Amino acid sequence: MTHVLAIVNQKGGVGKTTTAVNLGAGLAVEGKRTLIIDVDPQSNATRSFGVVADGRPTLYDAIVPSQATPVERIVIGTDLPHLWLLPASPSLAGAEVELVSVVGRESRLRHALDPVRAEYDFVLLDCPPSLGLLSVNALAAADGVIVPVQCEYLPLEGLGLLMRTLDLVRTRINPDLDLTGLVMTMFDGRTRLAAEVVAEVGRHFPDEQFKSVIPRSVRISEAPSYGETILQYAPSSPGAEAYMALARELIERCAEQREAA
Ligand code: ADP
Ligand code: MG
Repeated sequence: MTHVLAIVNQKGGVGKTTTAVNLGAGLAVEGKRTLIIDVDPQSNATRSFGVVADGRPTLYDAIVPSQATPVERIVIGTDLPHLWLLPASPSLAGAEVELVSVVGRESRLRHALDPVRAEYDFVLLDCPPSLGLLSVNALAAADGVIVPVQCEYLPLEGLGLLMRTLDLVRTRINPDLDLTGLVMTMFDGRTRLAAEVVAEVGRHFPDEQFKSVIPRSVRISEAPSYGETILQYAPSSPGAEAYMALARELIERCAEQREAA
């Protein structure tokens, strides 16, 4: 069974891309066939793998043209076994505008993904920092949502807006969309605020908050400039261990949800 998970938070800089890339790597190391889809025109996930989208087909070609390019012709392998990437380029910014008058514009990604879905255990959708049409496409295609929360700001107002958006998507487009979990990122144990943010989110989302907390780490922020995930760049660092722990926790949680279903 495939788990399609959108990594969403309308706030920029909270660790969405970092989590998509390194959680994806963790799942792959655990032997799960994993596809990361870059749904952000900024294409940071694509660049994290050292991929340059110079003329190669990207997500844009799968969801915008009326003669869409099949996803299997766009997906590329990475240096990690079991890990694949569907790259993006800045052209994706045009999708928000070009799809405006298209019927079924919210379901373009879901339909593009349908033929290849079963080939993967996990598909992670790295969303842009807004709740526009691209994020809605991701939420329409997803079974669940993972929300990265930065431990450096009290996030409840932003999370409230996000939860209302998820409700709206459930009502209108995707009734089965789960809140799979919230992952605390950039945790700095030296600050009192970080511990307070973890506790506060835990009070509001006791069942959803992942136990694995991602530490603030220079290694994590350096890895993309080498085209590597943290599991390749610094495999025994605390950041790598945290993303491995998160991957295992997610695998367990998805297995439990499946039994419960
Ligand atoms: P988003 O995709 O939500 O905009 P990113 O994943 O791009 O956020 O992260 C924003 C910035 O913070 C990037 O420069 C990234 O390298 C850095 N960053 C993310 N997670 C960590 C971390 N755990 N430790 C240190 N830096 C981090
Ligand atoms: Mg990003």
